[in-house]
Parts: sequence; structure tokens; C-alpha cells
Amino acid sequence: MDKTQLKQDLLRSLVIAIDGPAGSGKSTTTRLVAERLAYRQIDTGAMYRAITVKVIEHDLDPEDGERIGALAADTAISLERSPDGTMQVLLDGRDVTREIRSPEVTRLVSPVSAHPLVRKVMVREQRRMSEAGGVVLDGRDIGSVVLPHADVKAYMDASLEIRARRRLQELTEKGTRTSLEEVRKDIELRDQFDSSRVDSPLTTPVGAYVLNTTDLTIEQQVQQVISLAEARAAELAELIIQGRKKTPVEKIRPIYRFAHGLIMFFLKALWGIRIDRKIQHRYNENYIFVCNHKAFADPPLVGSSLSREVYFLAKAALFRNPLFGRLISTFNAIPLKRLAFDRSTIRKSMALLESGRSILLFPEGQRVFTEELGKPMSGVGYLAVKSGVPVFPMYVDGSNRLWDCLWRKRRLIIKHGRPLRLTDPSISRTATSDDYRRYSDTVMTSIQALKDEVERPVLA
Ligand code: C5P
Repeated sequence: MDKTQLKQDLLRSLVIAIDGPAGSGKSTTTRLVAERLAYRQIDTGAMYRAITVKVIEHDLDPEDGERIGALAADTAISLERSPDGTMQVLLDGRDVTREIRSPEVTRLVSPVSAHPLVRKVMVREQRRMSEAGGVVLDGRDIGSVVLPHADVKAYMDASLEIRARRRLQELTEKGTRTSLEEVRKDIELRDQFDSSRVDSPLTTPVGAYVLNTTDLTIEQQVQQVISLAEARAAELAELIIQGRKKTPVEKIRPIYRFAHGLIMFFLKALWGIRIDRKIQHRYNENYIFVCNHKAFADPPLVGSSLSREVYFLAKAALFRNPLFGRLISTFNAIPLKRLAFDRSTIRKSMALLESGRSILLFPEGQRVFTEELGKPMSGVGYLAVKSGVPVFPMYVDGSNRLWDCLWRKRRLIIKHGRPLRLTDPSISRTATSDDYRRYSDTVMTSIQALKDEVERPVLA
């Protein structure tokens, strides 16, 4: 397949995330982008609105997160395209397209959608709907939480005044009577609520392309998003074509290949390891591979699941025994004074990335023994943003129970995700420590998403 054909194919299956506050123009942009690219449109705000309709019908207290969460888990919300091209919102099979825009729903949707249990159910559903690609989603947390691997991330914003005017016009057209003052107050209140909630607040995803739509026409907004998608498709097509050739990025030393093959042979024959992969292509690029960390065995185990030679960062103490030190150096372990993201770690990692090599990092910084994943160190975000090298998330399960896995009391699983890419790489020049921390959180969220899938398969 030639590059143009490949690009066209890729352009049919991307994932586009559009975030922003109310009235920023994202719903209209999303609808038009979906139409032009023949994508599925997922208005996540409509989903939160639909569950709010049910909360009102069941007369639940909007503050009662537990009961609303249970209700959400027991609700089917679907977004269908009606014959005239408009979107229809179905709540347990019933059409609620008009109801979800009522002033009462608009007033209650922010407190209802702030509950972590509600978000968990909705995010899971949104990920399921996006799994096959060819989708454009709009919301508040799409690029940061729902789909960290989105191929294109855009953040739309506009002044409060213009957003209020747009929303007023929209409501008037739909026959709702209200005033500019009232709409402005409602938007301001929701902005405040959505930005300050603890779980998945409204933020600009790190690396998203920021579109200030105050002075843009709808056509310009749509064109910008489509250009970003076209550029991404062209870039991926090039990476795939290059990846089909044997290029330096893929060069693996014979000794590494031998050890890699040996470990894989045992993991398969004795442990029956399962490796789940989401991408079929081999892109010609290096990665910052990241994985959760449970056991000392993780570096060789996870490293062997990759078809590339990777570099590991290891505690200097491991090199004290000269023989062992030699062994792990042969397999690309790099000694560090402390296993922390200090200056020397960053410097060494950057040098490796700049020379086209891939590294494997454990963002939690140490082994985590609880069932829950640990908090990430912000150094991961720093490396990814500064180097612009995509982050490739993975999840390992069972590595701390190798004995049980050997006897098949448990399954040893490694799950590979999809690479996280920055849509606007110029963030590397302007990023602040808050951005690094937030990007580390996004990286950890992508590992958490793989964990959730292992525990409850998305396409079950
Ligand atoms: O986009 P729309 O205005 O319809 O969204 C309604 C509300 O749903 C937002 O104000 C926000 O509280 C919530 N929402 C959310 N996360 C999303 C989409 C919407 O919390 N991804």
C-alpha cells in the first residue's frame, strides 16, 4: 500500500478529542468534523445530561454520589444518528434528546457529573465506544482522562461574553426562553464547578492544540481540527512505511535478541504468559515505555514483551556485585544513585532518547504492593514533554505472583496500550512544573485504563 492510500486509511480511523468549557464551540465543531470525516460523534456532555434526567426522575439527592453511581451502572445511554443527521440521545431506549437541554438538567448536570462513581461508569462506556477509532468526542476530560492516546487533542476556549451569546442563540433557536444575563451566570457557575472538582476537572490537556475561538468562524474551527487530523495521519503513515524497512531504531544486538527469545520461550512454555497488543503496526520511532511496577522481575519480563531493545534505569546498589553488574549492563541497565527522577536520571534518559533509543520506566518510582496503582513521579511527564518522544503505556499483572502463575492459579498478563502523542509539541518550550505533573497523571491514567480492561474486558 502506498503512502497516500495508507494516509487515507488512517484518516478514517483516528481518535479526536475536543475539550473545552460550555459555549466554546466544541459541540458544533465536533458535529461538523464528524460529518466531514464520516466519524462517529460522541457528545459526552449529553451522556452526563442523560443520567441527570434519570436522577431527577428518581428524585435522588444530586449530592448522593453512591446512589447516583449505582443508578448510572444500571443505565443504558446510547447516542444514535437519526435519519436527518442529527444526534439522538437514548436513555434506556427512550428518546431524551430534548429533555437533556432543559434548564433543570443544565442546573444539576455539573454536581451529578462530579461524582467519581458516575464518571467511572461514563468513562468506561466512552472508551468502549471509541475502541475501534473513527470517532470524535467532545467533553471536559477527553484528552486528559478518557482517551490519553487520542491522535488529536484540541482545547477550545473563548471569552465568557462570546460563549454566553452563542449559548443564548442556541437556546433561543431551540425554543427555550432565557436572558443573556441568566445564560452568562449559568456558564460561569458551571465553569467554576467543572474546573474545581477533584475528579477529572476541566483542564487543557497537556500538549493539546489550543484554539481560541473568540474571533474564529465555525468553518475555521472545523478546518483547523481537520488539518490536525490530516497532519497526524500523514505522520503515522510515514512512520509505518519507515517501520516496514529495517531501520536503526529496530536494530537489536544478537545477545539481546538471544536473551529476549530465551525469556519469552520460558514465559510462554512454563508460565503461559498472555501478551495483549492494541496496535498492529510497527512505527519507526523510539518510545518512553512505561509500566506499573510490582516485582523485581518486571524489567526483564516487560522488556521481553517488546520487539525492541530498551534501556532500563537501575539502582546503583545492583551493580555492587561485579558479575551481576556486568550482566545487567549487558542488557542495558543504567546505574543511578537513587531510583528517583533526579537530575542525573533525567540527563541520562534524555541523552538516550535523543540518540533514538527507547527507555523503560516505572513511573511509580518503586514497587507498589497494593492492588491500587501508586502515584506517578512528575519526572516521567517532564521527560515526555521535553523530549517529545511518545509514551507507550503497558500494564503487567501477576509478576508478583509468579509461583501462582506457574501453577495456573493466576494468569501472567502484559497488556500493551497505544502511544500517547503531543498534538502541539511547542508545549516543550512553555511547559511548567504543573504541566509535567499533569502529564505524569495522564500517563498513569493510561496505565490504569489498561488495568481496568484486564479486570473487565472492554469488548466482552
Ligand atoms: O457539554 P455540555 O455543556 O452539554 O456538558 C454538560 C455538563 O456535563 C458540563 O457542564 C460538565 O459538568 C459535564 N461534563 C463532564 N465531563 C464531560 C462532559 C460534560 O463533566 N466529559
